[in-house]
Amino acid sequence: MATEEWGAGNRKVVVIGGGIAGALLAKSLQFQAEVFLIDPKEYFEIPWASLRAMVEPSFAERSVINHRDYLTNGHIITSPAISIRETEVLTAEGRLIPYNYLVIATGHTYSVPRSRTERLHQYEADNEKIRSANSILIVGGGPTGVELAGEIAVDFPDKKVTLVHRGPRLLEFIGFKAANKTLKWLTSKKVEVILEQSVNLNSVTDGDKTYQMSGGEIIKADCHFMCIGKPLGSSWLKETVLKDSLDAHGRLMVDEHLRVKGRKNVFAIGDITDISEIKQGYLAQNHAEVAAKNLKLLMSGGKESKMATYKPGKAMAIVSLGRKTAVAQFPYTTIIGCIPGKIKSGDLFVEKTRKQMGL
Ligand SMILES: Cc1cc2nc3c(=O)[nH]c(=O)nc-3n(C[C@H](O)[C@H](O)[C@H](O)COP(=O)(O)OP(=O)(O)OC[C@H]3O[C@@H](n4cnc5c(N)ncnc54)[C@H](O)[C@@H]3O)c2cc1C
Repeated sequence: MATEEWGAGNRKVVVIGGGIAGALLAKSLQFQAEVFLIDPKEYFEIPWASLRAMVEPSFAERSVINHRDYLTNGHIITSPAISIRETEVLTAEGRLIPYNYLVIATGHTYSVPRSRTERLHQYEADNEKIRSANSILIVGGGPTGVELAGEIAVDFPDKKVTLVHRGPRLLEFIGFKAANKTLKWLTSKKVEVILEQSVNLNSVTDGDKTYQMSGGEIIKADCHFMCIGKPLGSSWLKETVLKDSLDAHGRLMVDEHLRVKGRKNVFAIGDITDISEIKQGYLAQNHAEVAAKNLKLLMSGGKESKMATYKPGKAMAIVSLGRKTAVAQFPYTTIIGCIPGKIKSGDLFVEKTRKQMGL
């Protein structure tokens, strides 16, 4: 592509992926560029509020937000992107969307409904499933499984919760101190945690109430929730012009300005990038801010040498354990209790995130 096609004056920005990173970027550019947001669903959702919404469905009223509510001046295309060419993106519904600049923010793939209303109904159905069960099996001991176990143990202390995790410890994305403290806390809330076992997925149906473990043991539970890691949203990129920009894990390789390596007008942000840091939403939001700055600079004819640089974040994370407690890994310490709980577990950063989105 010739330089002048992506310099000042050409302001069509296509953002693929309406998660925490893509949504913020689209919102930030909407009055400086013609923004097209491509996402399979009509809404943006605060991911870390989703487990609370399962025990308290009305919580989702504020954490599931129609794209149109914050993107008042952009185009919203509700369809997955399936291919990228040098100057346009192809969607599953067959539309070709031309771009001057492209931002890939497809993080992880989740199978969720298309409309906000359907998503809210899904939370009501999950809540009914929890309420009507006496015993619940949670499969997966990463942040999703641990946070769900915490929410159920605190809100429904009479229910028997079993958490099965394939790995040797919980929360493998952060340090073992956080994992040990979390294990103790869950056990104190009578959650049975079984490590180094997986559940035979072929044996899993809610109706049967029995689940076979890899070690041969049978677990009885009235229902189950799958909380295992979701695949990266990049498999579709393998057949596109960006195929050589993927690393061995399927992440998009970016430079310090968050441009896809070897590309002048393509950026990548959020969990899909190969930046060496733990994958966290607040870091994805920082990526969006840096990429937005750089796009504004390039669109106004600024010099590439003036582009902002992204510095990888420190390994910090807070995992919520019900409504008042959390475990936090900070750079020099790991703590559990009401102090990190005060930071995250009350409203799960919903108000803060809504403010960032101008709501
Ligand atoms: C239980 C849990 C708790 C967490 N708690 C925190 C926390 O407290 N703080 C924190 O900072 N982070 C937290 N995280 C991590 C955080 O949620 C992620 O890092 C963040 O969501 C990444 O944002 P993203 O926009 O890169 O990707 P995602 O949020 O995965 O969004 C990707 C978007 O791309 C879309 N998409 C995928 N494929 C396509 C395609 N082909 N075409 C178009 N669109 C596509 C998807 O529909 C989705 O909208 C938590 C995660 C979990 C699971």
